[in-house]
Amino acid sequence: MTTYVWDYLPEYESEKEDLLDAVDTVFRSGQLVLGPSVAGFEREFADYHGVAHCAGVDNGTNAVKLGLQALGVGPGDEVVTVSNTAAPTVVAIDGTGAKPVFVDVREDDYLMDTDQVAAAITPRTKALLPVHLYGQCVDMAPLRALADQHGLALLEDCAQAHGARHGGRLAGSMGDAAAFSFYPTKVLGAYGDAGAVVTADPAVDANLRRLRYYGMEKTYYVVEVPGHNSRLDEVQAEILRRKLRRLDGYVRGRRAVAERYEQGLGDLADRGLVLPSVNEGNEHVYYVYVVRHPRRDEIIKALKRYDISLNISYPWPVHTMSGFAHLGYEAGSLPVTERLAGEIFSLPMYPSLPAGLQDKVIASLREVLLAL
Ligand SMILES: *Cc1c(COP(=O)(O)O)cnc(C)c1O
Repeated sequence: MTTYVWDYLPEYESEKEDLLDAVDTVFRSGQLVLGPSVAGFEREFADYHGVAHCAGVDNGTNAVKLGLQALGVGPGDEVVTVSNTAAPTVVAIDGTGAKPVFVDVREDDYLMDTDQVAAAITPRTKALLPVHLYGQCVDMAPLRALADQHGLALLEDCAQAHGARHGGRLAGSMGDAAAFSFYPTKVLGAYGDAGAVVTADPAVDANLRRLRYYGMEKTYYVVEVPGHNSRLDEVQAEILRRKLRRLDGYVRGRRAVAERYEQGLGDLADRGLVLPSVNEGNEHVYYVYVVRHPRRDEIIKALKRYDISLNISYPWPVHTMSGFAHLGYEAGSLPVTERLAGEIFSLPMYPSLPAGLQDKVIASLREVLLAL
């Protein structure tokens, strides 16, 4: 049996009754679009973050895109972000007509190097878009200071960081707005596509609600600025409501898996294996468990013989993708990001990962590394 990086079926088996009840609740409600489940989830997700507003949308990419648009980003603007991220972060910027501008990441935690942001700001810069990558928050204080100093919007990409904290504050409660994905693999995952944007600003929230609904106020049927159809689905919203109650438990489960990896693999540092580092003041939620080794490709090949299939998040930095060639980044322009892409790989990680499978991963990786 192959051990996969992610598998939702153990979770489904243990939560089946509640999840099917969620589906039944919506089917019997008589309101299949923007009904009580979307409204309920929005309220509960906002409350979880201690933020006033939440607007559900159809996926995380559109959460970033509409979040940027709601903050006033459009054609001709620049948005500063990282290239070491899921491509949708950058696709979303492109979708607003703005230009993505990349800074490099740091060697130790693979997150946005906030020391490089000031130099990337130009008169066209409209927003900063930090990504709380892999489940750990970017240091927001320097970004807040730069945003205030230059009058920029600050949007958090929280697609990988549900429940993560920085200095005690939840990811999603530190920017002007925050975009979430509930893609099934995420720390809080739906059973299909879903997303949301949280914000403390009622005007930003009102913009989002128009943007996701063709550009209309729902009751007026008049479009002033053409928007999108990016509504959160009622069935997914009800499933997310049920799962939100278990979010802290999912996070505890992921931390327990991470701890077991540390115990089983921590001594392999002298064999070149680098485990995730957690910054002071950060509570990591381990959306993915990213490790690093200079002979990554040989290791992945060897592990296939043990029937262990591993992911790389991400093998191609966004600035090197052909679809973004027009941005003009040469090879070598983001050296840490480019080096990382050749050395990182992700071990299986989900809260219901069976201990036996995890032990097999640890034992196999030990054998492979000791034989390198
Ligand atoms: C998953 C992800 C997205 C996109 O979310 P979708 O729901 O798949 O559209 C955006 N940004 C980051 C960092 C992600 O990991």
